[in-house]
Amino acid sequence: MKRGITRREREVTDPSEIIGILDRAKIVHVGMIDGDMPYVVPMNYGYTMEEGKLTLYLHGATRGRKLDILRENPRVFIEIDTDIVPFTGQAACQYGVGYSSVMGEGTAELVEDVEGKKEALKILMKTQVGKDFDFVDKMVGGVTVIKVHVSDYTAKKRPIPKRDCQ
Ligand SMILES: Cc1cc2nc3c(=O)[nH]c(=O)nc-3n(C[C@H](O)[C@H](O)[C@H](O)COP(=O)(O)OP(=O)(O)OC[C@H]3O[C@@H](n4cnc5c(N)ncnc54)[C@H](O)[C@@H]3O)c2cc1C
Repeated sequence: MKRGITRREREVTDPSEIIGILDRAKIVHVGMIDGDMPYVVPMNYGYTMEEGKLTLYLHGATRGRKLDILRENPRVFIEIDTDIVPFTGQAACQYGVGYSSVMGEGTAELVEDVEGKKEALKILMKTQVGKDFDFVDKMVGGVTVIKVHVSDYTAKKRPIPKRDCQ
């Protein structure tokens, strides 16, 4: 079920602000469904945002639990966060953490074709280190590339508050 953010005053809707979060965060937590158990894996990512459509690109080994799961059930939920700034206060309720985050649901696709894998890895490196790299065929043979089509996402920001109990 699609739900809005409960504390709407913290919702981020400005596309350039959402892109800023995606540029800074670097790590995505990918939630999967392993039978009737949740399974979550942190991974580096690259992303594209085209007319509001978010796509993530992931890479990793050619075998393992997450790949076994995704072949059975490609539905995923993603969580990305950055700008983590703890703050303190006099009372316990004045402690907390500032953050920016993006969450959303989507579908994972295993990219099989060589050109698609090269393109995904270029995007991933651009997001991760801000540089353009080229890949030759043999470099992509030993990795699995996962493309996550994010169908719905929301972004949220908790700023460092003024001195009040929230
Ligand atoms: C900051 C960060 C960035 C990462 N970036 C990537 C990336 O870009 N690509 C990538 O493929 N992997 C990345 N990893 C590693 C990733 O989290 C998984 O360990 C890896 O992808 C293997 O997943 P799997 O399901 O195939 O593991 P498997 O080895 O098949 O999992 C078997 C079991 O091992 C345990 N396990 C697996 N991974 C971890 C873990 N990280 N910590 C503790 N226990 C674990 C779990 O209990 C799991 O059930 C990253 C990890 C971190 C912390």
